[in-house]
Amino acid sequence: MTDSIFKRIEEKRGELIALTQDLIRIPTLNPPGENYREICEFLAKRLEPRGYTCTLIRAKGAPGDSDRYPRWNIVARRDGSRAGDCVHFNSHTDVVEVGQGWTRDPFGGALEGDLIYGRGACDMKGGLAASIIAAEAFVEEHPDYCGAIEISGTADEESGGYGGVAYLAEQGYFDPKRVQHVIIPEPLGHDRICLGHRGGWWAEIETKGEIAHGCMPFLGDCAVRHMGAVLDAFEEKLYPAMAKRFTEMPVIPDGARQSTMNINSIHGGQPEQPADYTGLPAHCVPDSCKIVIDRRFLIEEGIDATQAEVVDLLDDIKANRPGFDYELREINRVIPSMTAKDAPIVTTVHDAIRDVLGQDPAYVASPGSYDQKHIDRIGTLKNCIAYGPGELEMAHKPDEYIAVTEMLDSARVMARSLQTLLLSD
Ligand SMILES: [Zn+2]
Repeated sequence: MTDSIFKRIEEKRGELIALTQDLIRIPTLNPPGENYREICEFLAKRLEPRGYTCTLIRAKGAPGDSDRYPRWNIVARRDGSRAGDCVHFNSHTDVVEVGQGWTRDPFGGALEGDLIYGRGACDMKGGLAASIIAAEAFVEEHPDYCGAIEISGTADEESGGYGGVAYLAEQGYFDPKRVQHVIIPEPLGHDRICLGHRGGWWAEIETKGEIAHGCMPFLGDCAVRHMGAVLDAFEEKLYPAMAKRFTEMPVIPDGARQSTMNINSIHGGQPEQPADYTGLPAHCVPDSCKIVIDRRFLIEEGIDATQAEVVDLLDDIKANRPGFDYELREINRVIPSMTAKDAPIVTTVHDAIRDVLGQDPAYVASPGSYDQKHIDRIGTLKNCIAYGPGELEMAHKPDEYIAVTEMLDSARVMARSLQTLLLSD
């Protein structure tokens, strides 16, 4: 059984390459979110003749959705001949900006040796193509399978997924009653299983002051100095406390095994002038200073404690520093997600990797986040992993590429997983 499907996938090498190239040649840049409709129609045109029922869904009213840049998604479903579980492959169709430093056409899809080049080759059109080829090989091999296969192409993962997976989850597409297993073919490597990701909490903190003439600062109150007290407290208390906390989750790279916080921006006082402005600054005591923090927290910490730790610190300064006042505005929050190692999708893909590669997979977790957060929190579906071809380090880089051999290996693992989950005997 196994040999025959692996051979079938090998025979589809040319088709896999062509499909990956075709996907790369549809420039689905986000922002602004271009050609989502085009890529959905392309996928429907491929999948419908192969027995899939395709639904195109626009995330009306989602952030970024407009008539000029509509957020289109596709869910393709192919039911088997008998009842059973539904296995869903979810890929985001958007790619990030091209950036500088390319030596190939970013939307050309050039094949050189084993590598296909292009923006999105690795993140994650190669993974999407591999999952389609895997499903097609499986259906040809086992036309009488039970349950259902779903393939979705979703918008906006690179900007939070609100016009994509989050929207579909709100519409019930990831209800555990209709979908039982989810594989997200993000580029975590053909030999690794990604169980989830850390949490994130973004907030703007503003310190308040009082404007006065800069030659008599004692008549005002400097909001930037108050922010200095906040940054001091971060250095003295918050960062050392965070550095002591490590997660049990297998987060990569190693530095992300602990709590981290980036101070994303700082601004106080008069607005910055354009570079060609030749005037001098006016003499004012700033009455406002703002920072944006990007706090990545561990599943063991939780969102409430993460937030409370910062608020307590600010309240402590307020109690002890004359004139200090602040406002805190939450910008966004992402809960951590972690699928259990004994979840059916994990053990299935684990065994499939062993069958295909002859070695046990490594378990990893993502330092950032990806669409699993929405499937977990909104969809309440816990049986979800990221597994797909490509090197994470290659994502978003110039001359992004995907290796054909890695796509073929991943497709074998996915097809083998379908055999485990959708063949009853
Ligand atoms: Zn991605």
